[in-house]
Amino acid sequence: MVRLILAALALVLAAGAAFIGYRTFSFTAPPPPAAVEIPDTSTYQIDASAAAMRLAEAIRFRTVSLIEETEDRAQFVQFHTWLQQRYPAFHAAARREMVGELSLLYTWEGSDPGQPPIILLAHQDVVPVPNDTRQNWQVDPFGGIIRDDAIWGRGAIDDKGSLVALMEAAEYFAAQGRQPTRTIIFAFGHDEELGGDNGAVVMARMLAERNVRAWFVLDEGMAALDRHPLTGGPAAMIGVSERGSGTMRVRAVGQPGHSSMPPSETAVSLVAEAVDRIHSMPIEQGLEGGPALGMMRALAPELSLTNRMAVSNEWLFGPMLRQRMEGNPAARALLGTTVAPTMIEGGSRPNVLPGEASAMINFRIHPRDTAADLLRSARQEVADLEGVTVEWAEEPREASPISSSEASSYALIAALSGAILPDAPVAPGLVLAGTDSRHYAGVAENVYRFQPILLTAEDLEMPHGLNERLSVANFERMIRFYIGLMDAGAMQ
Ligand SMILES: [Zn+2]
Repeated sequence: MVRLILAALALVLAAGAAFIGYRTFSFTAPPPPAAVEIPDTSTYQIDASAAAMRLAEAIRFRTVSLIEETEDRAQFVQFHTWLQQRYPAFHAAARREMVGELSLLYTWEGSDPGQPPIILLAHQDVVPVPNDTRQNWQVDPFGGIIRDDAIWGRGAIDDKGSLVALMEAAEYFAAQGRQPTRTIIFAFGHDEELGGDNGAVVMARMLAERNVRAWFVLDEGMAALDRHPLTGGPAAMIGVSERGSGTMRVRAVGQPGHSSMPPSETAVSLVAEAVDRIHSMPIEQGLEGGPALGMMRALAPELSLTNRMAVSNEWLFGPMLRQRMEGNPAARALLGTTVAPTMIEGGSRPNVLPGEASAMINFRIHPRDTAADLLRSARQEVADLEGVTVEWAEEPREASPISSSEASSYALIAALSGAILPDAPVAPGLVLAGTDSRHYAGVAENVYRFQPILLTAEDLEMPHGLNERLSVANFERMIRFYIGLMDAGAMQ
């Protein structure tokens, strides 16, 4: 009998091992979408150093996002004039509209109205350079300096590099007298760094009113990394969704009075308890329901055998995998909504019971969750705490819908990335910050966020940080990529 049980057990184990092995080896990239024809991007005649000088000029306009209506808008106006002067053939061929006073919406009409348009985004505004960081810059952040084969300055990567590269690509065709077959729309917001309310939001609404339903939208948001944390090798990440965000306000009221004979709970103890419970409330974490699984699949051939076994057998290794990823904040953000208590206040004297205490908890919302569900869960957690209320401090922003990584538009972007960055496998990713592109979800079939540039982990600190710069090689990659995109996607 014992022998029989052991034999049965061995059989079960062997079957289990075979199943794990099968899953491990069959877990690879999903079948690629219908192969797309792309032109040979190396044949485009580009003068990269002349283009780099134009990007350097663009950086000299201090188009810092305008926080006050009364602030100087001359820098933006001058930048617009500069665009007209530098890209005359494109400006002659396309229709230009000023939206929300300073945003630019260009429509380059295609000859075939039956083809849905492409919408290409970039933003004109840049974040400021705080005075106390100025001495840590090696160059004038608005000097537009080319040094060590890079274009230096605020906005070089975020996002004038994209804007100028898009104009270079459009001018490339316009100067040859070529007109697209498919309409190309360029939307350059002026307040992306403030949320896009007066720029992208208004332009997207205008496009919706014109019944525009684009093939796809392409914006900044992700790029190719030289060392992807998962594989240790290069990977080009195409953002297919971006997280939402919101801040909950937790309020507790208590009996005010002297602390010599306190009640069992005070406003402070209640708010502390509530924050602790909401901070640790169960929120689903995992590969499913977001871009994580697709990313793992796309990078599977590059994963180590153990990692590949773990991600392909999440049913078994899920807890271990999650525990491993927990230690890495970037990986955690990919798996689920994150919760960060950020503010707490209450009371004014050590021996006085305050009548009220409150706290703020910031949520970054994963695409599988909704703001309403998170609020419901948080309220449930604290339902038995008398005098505690929870609400969104302001209207939360939902995560954006997940765009397809099997669509023909994704395939086109992926194929061009492969041509420009042949060593970097392409994978879908989740954008952890926010971009203007989220406002365009209603006017396009799919929305992607990708700059075809190769960055190091150190480079990722540069946007909004110190010594922002874009190598001339990366700038040239962008120009070739956008020319290729227009060529394959809109010119034939
Ligand atoms: Zn940006």
